[in-house]
Amino acid sequence: MIPIKSPADLKSMRHACRLSARLLAEVAAAVRPGMTTGELDAFAAQRMRALGVTSAFLGYGGFPGHTCISLNDEVVHGIPGPRAINAGDLVSVDLGVTADGFVGDNATTVMVGEMDAESVRLCGICEAALAAGIAAARAGNHVGDIGHAVQTVAEAAGFSVVRDYCGHGVGRRLHEDPQVPNFGNPGRGPVLKPGMTLAIEPMINQGTCRVEVMANGWTVKTRDRKRSAHFEHTVLVVAAGPAEILTCAEKK
Ligand code: MG
Repeated sequence: MIPIKSPADLKSMRHACRLSARLLAEVAAAVRPGMTTGELDAFAAQRMRALGVTSAFLGYGGFPGHTCISLNDEVVHGIPGPRAINAGDLVSVDLGVTADGFVGDNATTVMVGEMDAESVRLCGICEAALAAGIAAARAGNHVGDIGHAVQTVAEAAGFSVVRDYCGHGVGRRLHEDPQVPNFGNPGRGPVLKPGMTLAIEPMINQGTCRVEVMANGWTVKTRDRKRSAHFEHTVLVVAAGPAEILTCAEKK
């Protein structure tokens, strides 16, 4: 069953999402060459404490970080640790917090210093694919319309869409119904209704769409070790028009 949020739910949801977006912006701005992913996660943890929120990821299924930090050929679920961030790296930060009993979930990919042109293009297309997915998240459309929109943008640019991981409903829990794949057919899947809140999160690869989980049980890498980008917003399906992005740092 796909939860429909009440006005009271949405008040809390907006609060959680706003804080989640603010924290993600702060963490993204803190990325420096030479720092470790563990140091970046420690900064995130400190800022979460200061804002009075908790990580939605820490302890989820046993995940050991406050955030997921995935570099270069890592797609998602990177565990923060002693690995150093270097100029030229793609640093995907996935950050979700719980506040007022609701979760806000968002992700961005940071380009560190001087970047190769294909990495810049990958990030641009991943952001454009996310925007297309959000535009397709309209009441009366189907979940498949979102995935189709994402996939169309990514594949037209010559990139591939990760199949093994997808977006999701989000609210009182980090993962709610429905699953929101980043590929699919228009008109397929559950019908979108006002009050649904979804995390739309394309994971776009330079090479193959195939991925594999590393021995630590979490970190997902591309099979061909080419690079991957990840952008995510939590959005609200509204009565008319494209979904409203809830993970905006500014109060609307
Ligand atoms: Mg998510």
